[in-house]
Amino acid sequence: MAIRRVFRIDNEEDKKILKTNCRPVKLPDPGLKRLVADMFETMHANNGVGLAAPQIGLPIRLCIVELPPEIEEREDGTTVVVAPAEQFVLINPKIVKSSGEEVLREEGCLSLPGWYGQVPRQTWVTVEFQDLSGKWLRLRRADGLLGWAIQHEVDHLNGILFTERIRDLSTLREVNRVPQDNQVAA
Ligand code: ZN
Repeated sequence: MAIRRVFRIDNEEDKKILKTNCRPVKLPDPGLKRLVADMFETMHANNGVGLAAPQIGLPIRLCIVELPPEIEEREDGTTVVVAPAEQFVLINPKIVKSSGEEVLREEGCLSLPGWYGQVPRQTWVTVEFQDLSGKWLRLRRADGLLGWAIQHEVDHLNGILFTERIRDLSTLREVNRVPQDNQVAA
């Protein structure tokens, strides 16, 4: 596995790739498994919850999302994992339904590290996508962090950056400290 370079919004050459409407992936493709492993490694190295192929310079319709494990503290101060981390590999994803209702979220992007802004997103989306074998799957009414991350990643595949979704640009700012819990990047 290898950590790939993450392309940046504020680099003119990188931005050309990030602004590309990505092409569909033809499945099955034996090389994809290794690429997906590299993407997870790159995402972990950058503390993200998602990553899209164009962010490592490949204009193809492939993205990943990882929900962190849910950890609860017991009364004695020890912790217990109540839900394990969940990984999603979405190939050729299509948002087929959405709530029609928006919520503002504090959003960041691994292609603009350290910057966060208030982005309106649908409260839930239903997405269809293929897995590595080519089988079509549907995730119904993905909400919360998962629904948000899917919308951010599908935008990447369409060449849309989170900074273009921000309505009030005064909310876009650089966070020099450790990001808060509600500040996630993908
Ligand atoms: Zn991003």
